[in-house]
Amino acid sequence: MRRRSRRTFLGHLGATAAAVQVGSLVGEAAWQPATDFDLLIAGGRVIDPGQHLSAVRDVAIRYGRIAAIGENIPRDQARQVFDAADKLVTPGLIDLHSHVYEHGTPLGVNSDLVGIQSGVTTIVDAGTTGASMFPGFRRFVIDGARTRIYALLNLSTAGCCTDEIYLDPRLVNTRAAARVIEANRDLILGLKVRVRGRREDLDHDVATMTTARELADEVGLPIMMHWSTEPALLDIMRAGDILTHPFNPPTERSSNVFGSQMEQADAVLPQILELADRGIFTDGQLATTHHQWDVSEKATSQGWYPDVISTDLARTPEQIPASVLLPMSQFLHLGMSLDQVIAGVTTNPARALAYPETVGSLEPGSPADVAVLELEQGRFTFGDGSRPEPQTRELSQQFMNVATVKGGVLVKGGLDG
Ligand SMILES: [Zn+2]
Repeated sequence: MRRRSRRTFLGHLGATAAAVQVGSLVGEAAWQPATDFDLLIAGGRVIDPGQHLSAVRDVAIRYGRIAAIGENIPRDQARQVFDAADKLVTPGLIDLHSHVYEHGTPLGVNSDLVGIQSGVTTIVDAGTTGASMFPGFRRFVIDGARTRIYALLNLSTAGCCTDEIYLDPRLVNTRAAARVIEANRDLILGLKVRVRGRREDLDHDVATMTTARELADEVGLPIMMHWSTEPALLDIMRAGDILTHPFNPPTERSSNVFGSQMEQADAVLPQILELADRGIFTDGQLATTHHQWDVSEKATSQGWYPDVISTDLARTPEQIPASVLLPMSQFLHLGMSLDQVIAGVTTNPARALAYPETVGSLEPGSPADVAVLELEQGRFTFGDGSRPEPQTRELSQQFMNVATVKGGVLVKGGLDG
């Protein structure tokens, strides 16, 4: 081994050794600096549910990765210091269900606005595009975005259109889907299947999901399915799949955790309660057409919460595309603990898909994606998707993004912090 490459090699070894050493230091007072850091996020309350960590700590970054988490890491060990006193420091947030084909589809939002500008370093686009549109999405959005974007491929070749077009079997081409998946394994992490979930459509929905199941098993990817409480549809789902939109207003077009419009149960239905035991993830939104406050309050008062918090085209009261910070604030209002809320946008969505690199974690060695947040106090009114008039609730605090680090680089937020 030549001298220079050997030194580089040892440098990497050093980083690993430091990471191991530091991992064991969490919770202890002593700090033995091993080397210098590129960036130190100092003095914030670090919440990383994957490490069961929720305490004031310093996060040290080197070579684009988390190098160490510890107490009182000397500031002069770092080339840059971000003072996070009185702030929350979390893994870069993950939005498991967004639609970010801006300009390519009418509902697409700007990925960096709801991404790194909001502390969200990883976005999963949930089925905006199907086989015929994905190459354009990749070229015109994903390749140029500063936020990490992954995708669930819509079973429909045309992606997100209207229900009527989607449900047309002529738009389901599993050979085309499989080809696009194989060509984009680095970005496509699952399938998205839109069903209506109503009993009248059950035969059609079961046929669609059966086709999706065969494709998903062939390519080895999970399925995200629109909400249904029909056992015939839920039975097609397997461990690792994701069921989305639990809090739909009960209308003739949609059901929720309590069933259909015709049969709203008093308690969360047993087939929904058993999803967790079956290893099926639930993905919830609170600021979209897929939410009614009466439904989410009734479910959460019974202790039922989705595993994952996502946006799916959330809008602020001013109708600006909202990031996952908005439903996070609403779930906090609904009684989730702060650590549970953070798990819903970090640890849990990280477990739900097989990402090519570690996301949603501050474990030493992980890519250094970090969000610095604060809870703003005040009075904030949020509506839901009820028609004709939204139901509204007043919140006493909301999450704000102070700074974002992606891949070790401070991409939002000044060092005066
Ligand atoms: Zn969606």
